[in-house]
Amino acid sequence: MKPILPGATIGVLGSGQLGRMFAIAARRMGYRVHTLSPDSDTPTGQVADLEINASYHDLDRVAEFARGVDAVTFEFENVPAPTAETCARYVPVRPAGEVLHITQHRLREKSFLSGAGLPLTPFREVNSLDDLRRAIEELGYPAVLKAADFGYDGKGQVRIHSEADVDPAWNAIQAQSALEAFIDFDREVSVVAARNEDGAFVHYGAVENHHERHILDVTIAPARVRPGVAARAVEIARAVLEKLDVVGVLCVEFFVTKSGELLINELAPRPHNSGHFSFDACITSQFEQQLRAVCGLPLGSTEQLRPAVMVNLLGDLWQGGEPDWAAACACPNVKLHLYGKLEPRPGRKMGHLTAMAGDVETARGQALAARSALSKNA
Ligand code: AMP
Repeated sequence: MKPILPGATIGVLGSGQLGRMFAIAARRMGYRVHTLSPDSDTPTGQVADLEINASYHDLDRVAEFARGVDAVTFEFENVPAPTAETCARYVPVRPAGEVLHITQHRLREKSFLSGAGLPLTPFREVNSLDDLRRAIEELGYPAVLKAADFGYDGKGQVRIHSEADVDPAWNAIQAQSALEAFIDFDREVSVVAARNEDGAFVHYGAVENHHERHILDVTIAPARVRPGVAARAVEIARAVLEKLDVVGVLCVEFFVTKSGELLINELAPRPHNSGHFSFDACITSQFEQQLRAVCGLPLGSTEQLRPAVMVNLLGDLWQGGEPDWAAACACPNVKLHLYGKLEPRPGRKMGHLTAMAGDVETARGQALAARSALSKNA
């Protein structure tokens, strides 16, 4: 395909912070951006050239959106398949709808990974309470039951510690799901990587992720793991992107067991929260990389200029009033990102801070200090 050059218009399905940072990267390079989602005055819409407020199921509006752009990508992987298919009738959609189809359903994703011979958390398919009982017998306690559809940030997940939890867990989910063995991991890491149409592959190395209440809290880049573990994580990520034939950005999240084994937890076929550090700390951010891959341009260098730590800013920070933004800017190595969301609900990702320093420990200290300075006077 001929490259899609600056001046062209890129369509983004979804309108959250990932689309916003993509739009910032795209507009910087002279592209126009249109976004479609059911919401208005959105993080992406605020910086896009055009915000279309329509349901993903309104295929006439979706077709009109696709006719107005030169390529379509997405920032939200739960876009319904017919939406992506409608767009594909008019313009290239990247990554392809097939990648969405696999990664938006836990069981399809897990079957793909095991079929490809890639290491993943042991799991069983569950369609009934009887299935769940059988699966528990095979995998043992503790375990996690996860709905197969539309699960992200710990939604639609229940932990099962003992017999007493089994019936309530099924009652809470009552849908096709995956039972996973609970992994007593040493740490969690992820690899954000990109691949273009020619099969060129780049990656941002293994980064370390710490979650609170199932939501990413802190990313440490690079991860504090043995070089062999980081290299193996990158090789697994390369295999995932190749086998899925991804054109775009994809993140692989892993558990690192106490013995240093890597198990894939899940895939996200788009830029990822754990790659936000790249916006400030790398020659080419994950968002620009998505743009380059979608447009058929050569990929940029992922070289990281300084060790970096990213901390998320959740809506909870607003509990005592507007956070003290000036205080967070007091540390000159810390970069503030806010997503323009109007309502700071608890657990909602409102922004992030990235600190860069000579080593990750110093960066971590600065990022955490800047975050606590935000609510000091509350
Ligand atoms: P998920 O939405 O599946 O990525 O889960 C969110 C977070 O919950 C993960 O990043 C882990 O911290 C934790 N978690 C999920 N599944 C497991 C598991 N099988 N074993 C241990 N921790 C888990």
